[in-house]
Amino acid sequence: MKLNNIIIVGGGASGILAAIVARRNGANVTILERNSRIGKKILVTGNGRCNYTNSLTNVTDYNNQEFVAYGLGVFNPERTMSFFSQLGIVPKIENEGKTYPLSEQASSMIDVFLYELKHLGVNIITDALVNNIIKRNQRFTVFLADGSRYDADKVIIATGGKAMPKTGSDGVGYELASKLGHKVVPIFPALVKLKLECPYLKHLEGIKMPAKVELIHKNQVIQKEEGDILFGNYGISGPTILQISRKAMDLYHKNQKVYIKIILVSSLTKIEVKKRFMNAKEKPVDFSLIGLINKRYVSAILKEAKIFKQNTLVKDLSDNQLNALIDLLFDWRFLVKGSKSFNDAQVTAGGVSLEEINPETMESLKVSGLYFTGEVMDVDGRCGGYNLQWAWSSGYLAGLNSSKG
Ligand SMILES: Cc1cc2nc3c(=O)[nH]c(=O)nc-3n(C[C@H](O)[C@H](O)[C@H](O)COP(=O)(O)OP(=O)(O)OC[C@H]3O[C@@H](n4cnc5c(N)ncnc54)[C@H](O)[C@@H]3O)c2cc1C
Repeated sequence: MKLNNIIIVGGGASGILAAIVARRNGANVTILERNSRIGKKILVTGNGRCNYTNSLTNVTDYNNQEFVAYGLGVFNPERTMSFFSQLGIVPKIENEGKTYPLSEQASSMIDVFLYELKHLGVNIITDALVNNIIKRNQRFTVFLADGSRYDADKVIIATGGKAMPKTGSDGVGYELASKLGHKVVPIFPALVKLKLECPYLKHLEGIKMPAKVELIHKNQVIQKEEGDILFGNYGISGPTILQISRKAMDLYHKNQKVYIKIILVSSLTKIEVKKRFMNAKEKPVDFSLIGLINKRYVSAILKEAKIFKQNTLVKDLSDNQLNALIDLLFDWRFLVKGSKSFNDAQVTAGGVSLEEINPETMESLKVSGLYFTGEVMDVDGRCGGYNLQWAWSSGYLAGLNSSKG
């Protein structure tokens, strides 16, 4: 039987996994990677610790749940952990199911990948920027920017999205896919810091603290998160904000108004807070907030409550002012005015349309023998190991199916 020649465009998370699976299944495999080494983005994941899966992964953690269900079911977190254990990575499961190598080094992932790829005899060609792929007479020709070309029976596009383009995924994959006749759903940065309309950002810049955060659209809460927030001169970041950013930016791009609601005081009731003010009637209002909220919020929140003289005694506040201040402690809203760019994003929302991809094989429904893996597709997940899990699951399916017959 003739061996399948498979070219994998992109030596990132999903491309590497596909290469290992296809080669183990008997195919001749070549990875074409534009960088001088493979897996550059893996090195920056999980703050250098690589949060490579999440033991609690569920389809609801992704934007296109129906499409990801099969892949996540077949190559699930358990199988991912056992796959990586075989390569030498001992899993360390932390809070909320986030899973890292016990070594706490993302570079461990690259080390075991390089060993396995070499051991299996996968051909890795670096400094190889693919700029076109054509299919003629049942064969693919893959063109590089330097003028060289490679022939293949099957091609896997594993070029990633556009997040953090300096790692190599700068969106070229979308061009390759559309030249082959695939639709691309408009992309935008996700898991990203949000820009806010707020005249007090200068006062708030640098404040980091835990808070409950809600995303508000049409006065309804559409997402709730709890954890650290961090104000910057542009707006807000922190794990809670990254989680909320995907939905926020989706609506923002649809010209909808969305608000970030911050609940500064969540362990007391409004009545308890009001009592506290009543007991501090003789004190200046700015002082009455000390011990309740971070001191650095005080000046901004008083201005927002239209209390312009910060040392006004609590007893001299109007009812409106006092009620506005109490309301703000429980519901401080900021209009979302956009996000930071792809340079700052962890993932890309949008991508190659799933309507034209078989969810069980990752094969194109338009061009037989063409496969897609990972973030280049219109799949993105929450922060916490879900995006790499999708890279592994889709890489597994593409590697397995492209190497069949
Ligand atoms: C800062 C940061 C932290 C992250 N942390 C986590 C985390 O802890 N957990 C998690 O689950 N996810 C995390 N992610 C997301 C995760 O890294 C990606 O979703 C995942 O790497 C996508 O895998 P991929 O194979 O689709 O693409 P990539 O890993 O981006 O790989 C694509 C590869 O293709 C190459 N390439 C692109 N175009 C071409 C071309 N034309 N020719 C040749 N080669 C090409 C690129 O150089 C790159 O090596 C993080 C992302 C960022 C930016």
